[in-house]
Amino acid sequence: MVFALDCLGRGEQNWDAGLAEEFRRTLIESGYVVDDEFNEHQVLLKERESIRLSEVTVALTIAPTIDCNFACPYCFEGGDKPQLRMSSATMDAVVHFARSQMTEATQGLAVTWFGGEPLLGLKQIEEMTAKLKGQIVDQRHLQYYASIVTNGYGLTRKIAERLRDLGVSHAQITLDGTAEYHNRRRFRKGGDATFDRIVQNIVASRVW
Ligand code: SF4
Repeated sequence: MVFALDCLGRGEQNWDAGLAEEFRRTLIESGYVVDDEFNEHQVLLKERESIRLSEVTVALTIAPTIDCNFACPYCFEGGDKPQLRMSSATMDAVVHFARSQMTEATQGLAVTWFGGEPLLGLKQIEEMTAKLKGQIVDQRHLQYYASIVTNGYGLTRKIAERLRDLGVSHAQITLDGTAEYHNRRRFRKGGDATFDRIVQNIVASRVW
């Protein structure tokens, strides 16, 4: 994977030539490439149900904002997103909801930061994390896990380090293929290309 990222980072367009055994193996071991007979949709549905019904770990997906700096034409949230950020009152309601989902069996709280582009709401992530940790996790001595789904445009090394300090242990970043395809589908509001900067950020922000 690192090899492929380095190729992308150097802007090599024909990196398939060097896309050797190591990368293929990584894709298989990570579950991105599966046998034709393997029904990954069913497996994911089962996993999702078991997480949803689990009392051991309460899992929340939280959008600190649905505002976004991109204008992907296929965005399921539409092109005219309100530039709102989560209010403190809503954060308190989230804390209340999280607590209501917990039982004696609960050992962990897992949060996925989602958007829009959640990094546009970094201040809200900071405030919400403090509330969740201070009012739930620390009091109940729970494990805390967090991840982020981001378009990667604002994920500089400094931001990655800040996220790591906030308990975020991994980031999911979307690239829609090579630069040519990606830039046709995932561009900024106003149309600017995003591929090079995202790849630079992925390479620079390997803090995990
Ligand atoms: S980056 Fe994500 S949220 Fe933003 S426009 Fe694209 S698909 Fe929608």
